[in-house]
Amino acid sequence: MKTLLPVPEIAVGADRVDKIGADLAALKEAPKRVLLVIDRMLSHGGVGKRVREALATTRHETALWDGLAGKPTGAQIDTAAALARTHTAEAVIGVGGGSALDVAKLVAAIAGATDSVERYAFCANPLPTIPLPVICVPTTAGTGSETTHTAVFANAAGKKAWAWGPELAARKAVLDASLTTSLPAPLTAATGIDALIHAVESCTNANRFEANDVIAHAAIRLIARHLPAAVREPQNLEAREGMLVASCYAGIAINNTGTAIAHNIAHALGSIGKVHHGRAAGLGLRASLPWSLSASERAFADVAEAMGGPRDAGALPGLVDRLIRAVGLKVALADELPGVTPERLAAEMALPENEAMRKSSARPSTERDLHDLARAVLTAS
Ligand SMILES: [Zn+2]
Repeated sequence: MKTLLPVPEIAVGADRVDKIGADLAALKEAPKRVLLVIDRMLSHGGVGKRVREALATTRHETALWDGLAGKPTGAQIDTAAALARTHTAEAVIGVGGGSALDVAKLVAAIAGATDSVERYAFCANPLPTIPLPVICVPTTAGTGSETTHTAVFANAAGKKAWAWGPELAARKAVLDASLTTSLPAPLTAATGIDALIHAVESCTNANRFEANDVIAHAAIRLIARHLPAAVREPQNLEAREGMLVASCYAGIAINNTGTAIAHNIAHALGSIGKVHHGRAAGLGLRASLPWSLSASERAFADVAEAMGGPRDAGALPGLVDRLIRAVGLKVALADELPGVTPERLAAEMALPENEAMRKSSARPSTERDLHDLARAVLTAS
């Protein structure tokens, strides 16, 4: 299916968040009562203060949920949704990294019913049809959650679960680079590389099509241009804004065609150990590229060109490796995953919940391939 799905309205500009009350007022529902979902780390600092002040200026009655520290659990999402119901919220604002935005989207989607979010994991049941409108304000440049129709959480068993569907689309994204300047370099690097892998996989996998490639290539060009500066000079607003736009575009691109084998590896690494998702995806692409190239040479050649290299698929592994190292991400994993064998990682990769990513890869994989890819990731140095 070759469809460019609808994209939220996207506002871009430093200090743009100070107008979020006006953004709410401009929604067709003209909501007066709002639930603010914000990362706990940001809630009591300058970012939380700015958002609350902006909402006070426009006299919005705001309930605050800042119970998120780390990855969201189903129980946390249910608690936030219960708050949305008791506050009779008419809209949700999500401020933070991809996890906070995912919580905001899920809360908005389920607030109209009373079931636990777990009921909707892996689309086991359809989401309520009329979600509350959501405005997403990302404070990292990586997941692109503000433009995807996907949201991730941990289920009661502690396993990664996700839901997807148009009900999880944000109504508006506000890309404000002034909110990302305090992000530490290692997180800037890991989230930025995640955005790169989203863009690369979306325009090289089996679902790719030209109308979407254009978006992915734009994201790749922006990342190649801005990520090193965003890591090196945290206060560089031009680089920070370039990365916010890039991760947003990469989110649009994966929303249309999905990811591929590098994300299969990343999800498996994330389940086995505490490897940051962005770094895991970067290492997954780095390890799998030599294996993938032959299946989609033209597409990978276009990526190499978008990264500033020659239009040659063979140049891509070197370009990706250099960027990962240039932004300071460690390539070797073995010390962090003691005792994890290629067999163990390959078995995790082969789990049914990872099948969609594996199947959308341009090159079909055998059991032997998964084992070889797992070994390549674990022995990288
Ligand atoms: Zn990712």
